Amino acid sequence: MRLFEAIVEANHRALAGDAKAGLHPADFADELPVAALTCIDARLNPLLPEVLGLPKEQFIWLRNAGNIITGPTSSTMRSLALACAVKGARQIAIIGHNDCQVCKTSAMKLDDAFRALGIQRASLPENLTEFFGLFASERQNVIKAVDFVRHSPLIGPKVPVHGLLVDIGTGKLEWVVNGYQTLETATAPPPPSLGELAGQGMDALKSFAEFKIGEMKFPDTKIGELATEGKDWLVHEIHQIEIRPPQPPQPTPPPSVAPKIPLPPPIRVTPVVRKWKK
Ligand SMILES: [Zn+2]
Repeated sequence: MRLFEAIVEANHRALAGDAKAGLHPADFADELPVAALTCIDARLNPLLPEVLGLPKEQFIWLRNAGNIITGPTSSTMRSLALACAVKGARQIAIIGHNDCQVCKTSAMKLDDAFRALGIQRASLPENLTEFFGLFASERQNVIKAVDFVRHSPLIGPKVPVHGLLVDIGTGKLEWVVNGYQTLETATAPPPPSLGELAGQGMDALKSFAEFKIGEMKFPDTKIGELATEGKDWLVHEIHQIEIRPPQPPQPTPPPSVAPKIPLPPPIRVTPVVRKWKK
């Protein structure tokens, strides 16, 4: 069993009430430390790295608003690269969360919020959605970020890149992207298909179909919607068919309660000789 298989299993067992569930980091010394990118949401503060069962010293914690990666050589990507090259991170995890306020923010809301802060619209970039990397689906945002990291020239082929979602109410982990599987299939990448190009978001769409965002008339959407509906837009570009009407807004979930998390048992602090497995 590999590290993240053990992490997810221990997390689920602990949440199911197994008081003995927990991770034994010494068994995974050759897969540690982990570099993780999470949102800045303060509700994550008491959850990580505890819900992973990892000791703090094996958890390199990078944060930005919305755990967004905007490009293969972006500032966050450079920090992830240095986490591996300088701090010796062996695995990367992009960890999104439910009820993310960045996900709930549209360009229009952001415009209003900036105005309330005394920031004039003219001093901001024209496309706030693209500039801030706003998204409409926490899951799609994680998948997109993992894809950026996996294909970044700054991240070597030896580092598994996982995508997870954590429930801020319960601490439950969902393993969205298994970095071990994508690592195996990444050795001989096939040429990108139309669907893959569409899945890569706006940049790929732009380059493929000379897609000019300013010439399209569409409602105030976010990057996640662009990613998930990119295929439809690509078809539109090629076949000149109608764009689907915007999706109705999703109902707002009830506010989450303060987390009460059955955590794995505390890690026994005993002197451990670091094992380097072959
Ligand atoms: Zn968030």
